[in-house]
Amino acid sequence: MKKIFSLILAIIMIASVAMLAGCSTQGGDNELVMGTNAAFPPYEYYDEDGETIIGIDAEIAQAVADKIGMTLTIKDMEFDSLLTAVQSGAVDIVFAGLTVTDERKESVDFSITYATGIQVIIVPKDSDIKTVDDLDGKVIGVQAGTTGDIYCTDDYGQENVKQYANGALAVAALQNAQVDCVVIDNEPAKSFVDANDGLKILDTEYVTEDYAAAISKENTELTEKVNAAMEELKADGTIDSILAKYIKAE
Ligand code: GLN
Repeated sequence: MKKIFSLILAIIMIASVAMLAGCSTQGGDNELVMGTNAAFPPYEYYDEDGETIIGIDAEIAQAVADKIGMTLTIKDMEFDSLLTAVQSGAVDIVFAGLTVTDERKESVDFSITYATGIQVIIVPKDSDIKTVDDLDGKVIGVQAGTTGDIYCTDDYGQENVKQYANGALAVAALQNAQVDCVVIDNEPAKSFVDANDGLKILDTEYVTEDYAAAISKENTELTEKVNAAMEELKADGTIDSILAKYIKAE
């Protein structure tokens, strides 16, 4: 009886040690845990199998991980919880078509930039919104916590801005006439307009911005490694070819 008891105790102890190891928030020494919101094509989205996250950010992160000798794991979460996740150590790095802003720089460190984004306006083809100047008094759909959300709230007032968890939901609301337009980054805008009849992107651009990865301010060692890797991947053309693979020249 006593023997069985100690055996059970030993099993419980081994199991809890294993669980602790598995549950540690941040990845092990060799794991690079990336946080993203995988509803942002072509930067991050699910492959046809519905399981694998692919896209520009997934490929750049993989190339960075390979260069610094780490194994990449991708966690899909809401866009507006990504910066808290990297600050708390729930993820090591955020690659999410994330725009560099002064305000975000107060809470996280950014890597070197690797792409440009433009906030554009999606409208129904027959909309009376012709340029940015027509947005006053319209109901604008945005993805919660994005720069599009922040700019529109500042410029047109919170009462005119409806927040959605991701771009696809904002575009669905536009199709259902719950909003008059959607303000979102240009590349996802193109994907959404291609996938939905009756929508177009206005020629006038709203704001141009730079994308970079975000890392915790406590993890300067990782930021240095990631930046060194990204510099090399820029210099040898890897980043350009990943961008060109997903973004077709017009
Ligand atoms: N570039 C925008 C931002 O950083 C949107 C990014 C996204 O929705 N993934 O706020």
